[in-house]
Amino acid sequence: MDRFDAVVIGGGAAGLGAAYRMAENGLNVLLIERGENVGEKSVYGGRIYSRVFEEYVKGFKDAPVERWVKKERLTFLDDKESVSIEYSSDETCSFTAILTKFNRWLSDRVEDTGALVVPGIMVEDVKLNPTRVVADGEEIECDAVVIAEGVNPMLTMKLGIRGDWKPEEVAVGVKEVFKLSESEINSRFDVESDEGVANLFVGYPIFTHGGGFIYTNKDTVSVGVVVRVDSAMKNKIEVYDVAEKFRAHKDVATFLKGGSMIEYSAHLVPEAGIRGVPGELHRNSILIAGDTAGFVLNRGFTIRGVDFAFYSGILAADSIREAMDIGDAGLSGQIYENKIKESLIMKELEKFRKALNVLENTRFFDEYARMMVEIMGGIFDVREESNRLYDVVMDKTKGRKLRMILDFLSAFRGL
Ligand SMILES: Cc1cc2nc3c(=O)[nH]c(=O)nc-3n(C[C@H](O)[C@H](O)[C@H](O)COP(=O)(O)OP(=O)(O)OC[C@H]3O[C@@H](n4cnc5c(N)ncnc54)[C@H](O)[C@@H]3O)c2cc1C
Repeated sequence: MDRFDAVVIGGGAAGLGAAYRMAENGLNVLLIERGENVGEKSVYGGRIYSRVFEEYVKGFKDAPVERWVKKERLTFLDDKESVSIEYSSDETCSFTAILTKFNRWLSDRVEDTGALVVPGIMVEDVKLNPTRVVADGEEIECDAVVIAEGVNPMLTMKLGIRGDWKPEEVAVGVKEVFKLSESEINSRFDVESDEGVANLFVGYPIFTHGGGFIYTNKDTVSVGVVVRVDSAMKNKIEVYDVAEKFRAHKDVATFLKGGSMIEYSAHLVPEAGIRGVPGELHRNSILIAGDTAGFVLNRGFTIRGVDFAFYSGILAADSIREAMDIGDAGLSGQIYENKIKESLIMKELEKFRKALNVLENTRFFDEYARMMVEIMGGIFDVREESNRLYDVVMDKTKGRKLRMILDFLSAFRGL
């Protein structure tokens, strides 16, 4: 029977963070990934917040960054028109990347530190007393396990650490990648070659919990939609249909014109914020990290999953190392829970607890998205008499002012 200090299950950002850090700290680590290649199962929108990678990964400057995000754009869409708010700055804290490529690059760094990375094998079970991982009909003994199996927590549920997601706690995302030339992207998005754009969309064609996105890569554009599963079920929304409608909207299509689709993927994403984090994050020396633990923050205009996943892997690794230094790997779970509680991940999730109530309110995705467009349309329409801003706002908000004030107050406080 093979023996390792620690086994990591899953080669996404969480598992790679855990394996990297443990190997760097001198542990004998095995990472098992079910995909034929590390990274091939990873799906996301398109942007990664850089801080933890800059801090923890040696040689990060050589990472496959596509573009540093210098423009943030929020667009309200109705079926024919749009209103965009843009923030542009030379300061940046995030970059666009192709996640499959980025995770593959991280996996190479993990191997450089001395961990063994084995793709193409699915872990079937994790057992306690003694701690073992069952894969490919073999049992692998170890002192600790990090389960970083992503949003489908099969092994974690089997161990009773967490239950399955409810439909209102996850969203389904569809993402497509379009090939365009670098110069076309630069001119269409009005950026230089190393500058990127993150554009989030609210309103058409979803008009309920969810939205659209566009991220610019070097010579490709990532585009897609995300819809919360309960809303998709309730409103009979086919995610593939809304993805197509979104892409066909003139103010989206204009960015993709002439491009060819080279990639298509769909995936679930945790959407429950702090409410999606289970009460326990371990069973003895078996720790859970990343999406499996629900570490994703969606504030409506930013989504953080990849950096939180990687950082939770780092904290899991440090907890295992600390417990082993004391001579009792069984303590690693408790140490990990303490570290997570004190970490930026939980502080951020806690800080935006109220954002969950704001984002629960479908008026932001429907009524107010349309209203933004109508107000701007009213101001700029001079085909006949021009309209004063005051008159347009009063007209478009007739009968809903108090409700709107209360909704916007809660949004200011929560987001
Ligand atoms: C549409 C969409 C848009 C998103 N946009 C963004 C964004 O722009 N920015 C951002 O930061 N986050 C975004 N996210 C969230 C982000 O993708 C995740 O939070 C992050 O990738 C989670 O990493 P992870 O390592 O926990 O899980 P994953 O990347 O899912 O990795 C889990 C790995 O475990 C493997 N695995 C599972 N079970 C087993 C098993 N039994 N044996 C072996 N291997 C196994 C899987 O094959 C997979 O490779 C988005 C998500 C979606 C779906």
